[in-house]
Amino acid sequence: MRVHHLNCGCMCPIGGAWFDGFSKGLTARLVCHCLLVETERHGLVLVDTGFGSRDVAVPGERLSGFFRAFNNIHFEHRLTALEQVRQLGFDPADVRHIVLTHLDFDHAGGLSDFPEARVHVLQREYDAARGSHGFLGHRRYRHRQWDEVRHWQFHEPGGDTWFGFQSARELVGLPPEILLIPLTGHTHGHAGVALDTGDGWLLHAGDAYFYRDEVGQVERHCTPGLAFYQRLMEVDRSARLANQHRLWTLSLEHRSEVTLFCSHDARELERLQSRSPSLAPQAAVGGAG
Ligand SMILES: [Zn+2]
Repeated sequence: MRVHHLNCGCMCPIGGAWFDGFSKGLTARLVCHCLLVETERHGLVLVDTGFGSRDVAVPGERLSGFFRAFNNIHFEHRLTALEQVRQLGFDPADVRHIVLTHLDFDHAGGLSDFPEARVHVLQREYDAARGSHGFLGHRRYRHRQWDEVRHWQFHEPGGDTWFGFQSARELVGLPPEILLIPLTGHTHGHAGVALDTGDGWLLHAGDAYFYRDEVGQVERHCTPGLAFYQRLMEVDRSARLANQHRLWTLSLEHRSEVTLFCSHDARELERLQSRSPSLAPQAAVGGAG
């Protein structure tokens, strides 16, 4: 398989380095790290979708004012997965599967750009999104982004273990090299997506952690802004912290076998894009900041 690392959204909250650890100015730069996977027999597989063309066209109808303002989302058509699939020379209809870490607004916005794709998610996440309530519940889960999905494929935990983590049962229609790894805490049905590239494993950890120094080094560190945001968005603190600890352990003990990354860290995305460049630089990371 061939894996492209895409940035499908730019969020620039006020706070600069207080969030991202590197910005010099007032605003930070957070990305929406998605994957486009070329498989041999199953067409193109998208892992998460970031913001989609409908979000860019009518953000006021699709997203909450609270998160548009708080995250200072920059909407750009060129960052949509739809546009980047085209830029890579593919037909969007070739995207046959979309595997989601969870259904938050900054991960599911592009679903409506690929109406023929089969959408894989943990059953528990779908149930949580459908039954969402309260101030944050209504604002994080945006039904309009996924109401029109025609081909859902829900999954339950119960597959083989993967480096000590539980996995979901075989994902129907997908190659066995792609696994859903339940990592609850940020949401009730949050999952990571593991891919056996043939040259080591990739684990897209979604929003199970937010900052690069939370994994991969003995001293764990998160910026205050992202520590605050993670607490704001969590639904189960003990599960979130336990899973983060397990990811940290994985990153130290299996460093040579598993490359771990999260959704919103721009530096992680840049590192992986430089390892496997597949896009013109201006399309690759993009965004202001
Ligand atoms: Zn997110």
